[in-house]
Amino acid sequence: MIDAKGRNITYLRISVTDKCNLRCRYCMPEEGVCKKEHTDMLTEDEIIQAVEAAAELGITKLRITGGEPLVKKNIVSICRRAAAVEGIKEVCLTTNGLLLPQLAKPLKEAGVKRLNLSLDTLNPEKYAYITRIGTLEDFRAGLDAAFEAGFEKIKINSVLIGGFNDDEIEDMVRLTLQYPLDMRFIELMPMYDSGDFGMEAYLPYSKVLEKLPEAVPVPQDGGVAKLYRLPGAKGNIGLISPVSAHFCGECNRLRLTADGKLKPCLHAPDEYTIKGLDKERIKAVFRQAIWNKPAWHGDLDALHRSQAGRNMNEIGG
Ligand code: SAM
Ligand code: SF4
Repeated sequence: MIDAKGRNITYLRISVTDKCNLRCRYCMPEEGVCKKEHTDMLTEDEIIQAVEAAAELGITKLRITGGEPLVKKNIVSICRRAAAVEGIKEVCLTTNGLLLPQLAKPLKEAGVKRLNLSLDTLNPEKYAYITRIGTLEDFRAGLDAAFEAGFEKIKINSVLIGGFNDDEIEDMVRLTLQYPLDMRFIELMPMYDSGDFGMEAYLPYSKVLEKLPEAVPVPQDGGVAKLYRLPGAKGNIGLISPVSAHFCGECNRLRLTADGKLKPCLHAPDEYTIKGLDKERIKAVFRQAIWNKPAWHGDLDALHRSQAGRNMNEIGG
């Protein structure tokens, strides 16, 4: 469906839970999420009904996210049913990777095409620090399991955090020489400020390029990342710049939160409820949300925080 600004909306990101088995310092408070009533959250059948409604309006690509989608007990069934909905061509998933040793194979069999894994550092102590409770060893086991299950074109997402991982950019990019994966850097967005990493830690994507004089631009693949490649590399370097160079003009996505709110823009407060509605009414809400999708998300920086009204784990990054 085309929105009021002429953008063709084909991509729905679905957060299946706002819970997580990590507590990344830029994303979530240490104590976790305040527990919402179970009855406020979308059920598996409601998620699938929303996917059917979305597909009938022209959505072809889904990304399953959270919170951590793999802590959701019925995640494999949700992915299998979503991938089988007529009109859905691609189901992808974003995860911190820790539960992939158990789930990579079933997810692949369920029809998940591609995985994005989040990793902000290659240093075990720093990993334990940034995630508060994770181990790099567990991440590594998850990545190995994803390769073993046959996932291709795996993308590693790293949030650029000044004073924390800017000294590791070259090392992280070198992973693309060893493994067939894309290494992507995302600018820190002013969503949740834990006091550990506020916008004083923000770095523009241009800092990555400064450290990689040998990287050459390659054509974009239809996504929002600017792509580069090291000579002889097996994968690309992706730079995602929601703050320094927003891509709202090409934004083709909507988000559905775990508690059943459609968000036409990540950084706008607008939310449209679909919980408890039948499919025809859900389609009407989708049309309304798409038509009213903001032209752009406004300035984002230390002075202009995101107007999302939720932390990233409660929206679906
Ligand atoms: N738990 C999964 C994971 O970490 O991949 C999926 C959900 S997580 C919210 C999705 C992505 O959002 C992660 O790559 C995470 O690093 C990113 N993210 C969270 N808070 C962010 C922020 N304030 N700015 C930029 N990216 C952020
Ligand atoms: Fe959890 Fe992902 Fe947020 Fe880290 S970034 S706390 S893994 S939801």
